[in-house]
Amino acid sequence: MKYIGAHVSAAGGVENAPLNAKKIGATAFALFTKNQRQWKAKPLTQNTITQFQKNCEEAVYTPDQILPHDSYLINLGHPEPEGLEKSRNAFIDEMRRCEQLGLKYLNFHPGSHLKKISEETCLGRIAESINLALEQTSGVTAVIENTAGQGTNMGHRFEHLAAIIEGVDDQSRVGVCLDTCHTFSAGYDLRTPDAFETTFSTFDEVVGFSYLKGLHLNDGKKNLGSRVDRHETIGNGTLGLEPFRMIMNDPRFNNLPMILETPDDSRWAGEIRILMEMVEKKT
Ligand SMILES: [Zn+2]
Ligand SMILES: [Zn+2]
Repeated sequence: MKYIGAHVSAAGGVENAPLNAKKIGATAFALFTKNQRQWKAKPLTQNTITQFQKNCEEAVYTPDQILPHDSYLINLGHPEPEGLEKSRNAFIDEMRRCEQLGLKYLNFHPGSHLKKISEETCLGRIAESINLALEQTSGVTAVIENTAGQGTNMGHRFEHLAAIIEGVDDQSRVGVCLDTCHTFSAGYDLRTPDAFETTFSTFDEVVGFSYLKGLHLNDGKKNLGSRVDRHETIGNGTLGLEPFRMIMNDPRFNNLPMILETPDDSRWAGEIRILMEMVEKKT
């Protein structure tokens, strides 16, 4: 099965996210479980949790099809003690919210060194942050997203993802999410069958497909290796349709939430339909 959806709005409460996903014909979705631009959030009420689960059940979304995303403020590799502690506390809170909702993943960007510590120290700090969060929660897997490598963001090399995983004590609860736009901007080509195969066999060697828990399906506005993170509607950008056709017909991406984070939400239903139609019917 290919599960395809988008990062939908949870305005008015997380219980609205599965309803918004259903409206665009999605078979997967992503959401923020709190306002992504604020540090603090009110705890989830029992009523919200029950309603969220009921709406997921009715729209037939299981936790395998849902990939929550954490706040953009969090930097788990923060060079300074105060910023690091604030980030770690906020991340643990986000992990708890996922746990309360009965979800199994939390997707996050690894972190940034801000030119104040080495890349290696930053990666070690991120792994330690994950360890602290896993110790204090249960049932939720921390899903590291690869990045485009803007500024001092870590996670643009597959080796960064591998180094973080290496530092995690419970490797059964750590995974990765690959964003097609970030992968391409970071310098891994996806546009031809050969390039696609090279990129994913490198990923398999360095990280391993067993850690892959989800994909973000985004076309990009910038060129290969630009290290700039600008998403574009599927088929309208520098990646074009081919990488997505290959993904849709590759069994290595079966049964994973695949999430659009493309800029025009009015096109999501159409993009999902185009992606579904790319799946070649086997006779
Ligand atoms: Zn992404
Ligand atoms: Zn991005």
